[in-house]
Amino acid sequence: MRAVTVRNGNVALVHDHPEPEVREGECLVRVHLAGICATDLHIINGYMNFDGVLGHEMVGTVVSGPSELRDKRVVCEINCVCRKCDMCSAGLANHCRNRTVIGIDRRDGCFADQIAVPQRNLHLVPDAVSDEEAVFVEPLAAAYQVVAQCPIESHTNVSVLGPGRLGLLVAQVLAQRGCKLTVVGRNPAKLEMCEKKGIQAIHVDDLVPRHDRDVVVECTGAPEGLGIALAMVRPRGTIVLKSTCAGPGGINLASLVIHEVTLLGSRCGPFPEALDALARKAVDVRSLISRTFPLDQAPEALEAAGNPSNLKILLKCNAR
Ligand SMILES: [Zn+2]
Ligand SMILES: [Zn+2]
Repeated sequence: MRAVTVRNGNVALVHDHPEPEVREGECLVRVHLAGICATDLHIINGYMNFDGVLGHEMVGTVVSGPSELRDKRVVCEINCVCRKCDMCSAGLANHCRNRTVIGIDRRDGCFADQIAVPQRNLHLVPDAVSDEEAVFVEPLAAAYQVVAQCPIESHTNVSVLGPGRLGLLVAQVLAQRGCKLTVVGRNPAKLEMCEKKGIQAIHVDDLVPRHDRDVVVECTGAPEGLGIALAMVRPRGTIVLKSTCAGPGGINLASLVIHEVTLLGSRCGPFPEALDALARKAVDVRSLISRTFPLDQAPEALEAAGNPSNLKILLKCNAR
């Protein structure tokens, strides 16, 4: 089958990749669409020392597995867990100590014709949700994780830093809470996109940080983000960190201590809430799609995903 692999930091589109081995409790899924995210680009640059098939955002059809799932359209949670360790026992399976992660950590991903995944990771996609929408469930779930971890009320003053592919999802989820929301970014087209959705947007050069935001959600994917967030958040406020990049050297964390700021790391989130939001059309994801490439043009697609003027780049792996 076709697959996009990373080996020692080299990306390649392979045409004769072996079919996935389907182990007990797993299903084989034929991938329709896959999404490229910042994590994929970080992995190519050496993050996680990953070796294997890239990709973790997908929608597809179950080819082999239990009869209730066969031929059904599904999306897939990315953490493959043991259900035995202390984290799993405590209901924190996403933090399983023995987990592998699809396309990120010791498990083949979805930039391929087919993928083998644990049956319990799958969620059925309702008919009301198209493939183009369903492929956003994984990052949208990560956006819902922000409100799962950090209470946001109508009076909460929130800023989203970085209106990229994740930041625009986070901003839409927060906007539903009716909170006092601003988005801070650099790219005029993306700021305009926020304004069109009724979300106030500010250029980072026009930002006067006043230590007045209750919550700052950092989605820049850049090392500088945390420093800006620290200048914006109020004393005893909260910074939610979504960027999986190393912090810059020389960042002054004194502000974190002086203002007694809560720093909250945030990763994967609830799939059912994301699927429900898409079915209700509560979140718009279609306008985030910059371009869809066939799997055969994966190298061009990855390059396009690295261009900051693009938002979501999709890979069309197979017809529905
Ligand atoms: Zn992702
Ligand atoms: Zn576990």
